[in-house]
Amino acid sequence: MTMRTQTDSKSRRTANKACILSIGNELLSGLTVDTNAAWLAGRLADLGIDLLGVRLLPDDLEVIVRALTEAAEHADVVLVTGGLGPTDDDLTRQAMARFLGVDLELRPDLLARIERFFAHRERPMAPTNRIQAHLPAGSEPLDNPVGTACGIRVERGGRVFFCLPGVPSEMKRMFNDAVEPELAQRVRTGPVIVRRRLRCFGVGESDIAVLLGDRMQRGRNPMVNSTASNGIITLHIVAQADDADRAQAMIRAEEADLRRMLGELVFGEEEQTLAEVTGELLVRRGLSLTVAESCTGGLIGKLLTDVPGASRYFLGGWITYSNEAKIRDLGVPEPLIRTHGAVSEPVAEAMARGARQRAQADLAVATTGIAGPEGGSEQKPVGLVYIAVAEADGCRVGRFVWPYSRPAVRLRAALTGINELRLRLRN
Ligand code: AMP
Ligand code: MG
Repeated sequence: MTMRTQTDSKSRRTANKACILSIGNELLSGLTVDTNAAWLAGRLADLGIDLLGVRLLPDDLEVIVRALTEAAEHADVVLVTGGLGPTDDDLTRQAMARFLGVDLELRPDLLARIERFFAHRERPMAPTNRIQAHLPAGSEPLDNPVGTACGIRVERGGRVFFCLPGVPSEMKRMFNDAVEPELAQRVRTGPVIVRRRLRCFGVGESDIAVLLGDRMQRGRNPMVNSTASNGIITLHIVAQADDADRAQAMIRAEEADLRRMLGELVFGEEEQTLAEVTGELLVRRGLSLTVAESCTGGLIGKLLTDVPGASRYFLGGWITYSNEAKIRDLGVPEPLIRTHGAVSEPVAEAMARGARQRAQADLAVATTGIAGPEGGSEQKPVGLVYIAVAEADGCRVGRFVWPYSRPAVRLRAALTGINELRLRLRN
């Protein structure tokens, strides 16, 4: 029995159809969610390459070889992730060699690179890492600047195979650096597709659909559709034209229309986050920020400091979870809590004002709410959150009710707190 695939006489050098193989027992046992395939699927869609399917495969040599053989029957591009690690259960390298009918060869240049990788971290290299310096004969390494597992690129019968690491950050880096440029060159010629994403926050997906009316009609060109996650609505604009200039012009015109129709609901584009955009506004205005968090438990601070350079405007803040902490650390008057309760408009306001004054910040955002699942009442249901923003000329408090799970309430409250800041800074 031979595991070789048929070799076409002429290389087709196209990339119309792709297949993804995700390798690892942890994916089949449900311990790890296959986020690699989801991410790659998005990138293939951006490139205009049809994805025929995704397969989850165990760390089993025979099964992987069979899957490679089957994938090669239908796809021009086969993307494999996982199984490039140094341990015995990582078998992608071996499976690829078996599928190609070749041996694994030690590549001294790769071995030297792995040795340098460990030397740089002042750690000894385990003998098992030597396997990562082996490649199937006739294949090319794909550089991994952030790990020891180099990738594998090999062409066979007009098909191209890319084996990428399982670790998502390494996989993404390698795809962007080495795989995407090649696939972009290989994709069929035809109408040019240009995509653009606008990010919105503040109303639901169906409200956006009402505001946009027939702009979201199916079959339109440019086409507009939406996806939603944690209250962030992403509008995807896709324009098709005979050339890139025309498609770009269509996208620009559509984007301008959508921005006009949605106004301040649009906070950013592509991958931008609320915290990033708000940070840019703070920098532009030269303003500083502090936080006083109760029900969000530090999540606003976390989201703000996810942004590199946040120290230019974010001073720090308080997690005041108990009444005592609100009184002691922020100077919230005790009678205010006794009269109105900790989850109330006056307490949210006092928290924001107290934090602003104590941190000597230009702006402060405060949250107090009932994240649940227990602790709700008729007047104060689970999911009730007050969010206050204090600035030089006053303080505004918003009341929100999100009847969601505890993590969802907390995340929505944190994002809304940052969005309230953005809205203050926009004008
Ligand atoms: P491996 O390259 O097989 O050694 O995988 C290294 C680690 O990457 C695994 O332990 C998982 O935590 C993670 N990983 C592997 N495959 C995937 C995948 N398809 N999606 C998300 N994470 C993955
Ligand atoms: Mg693995």
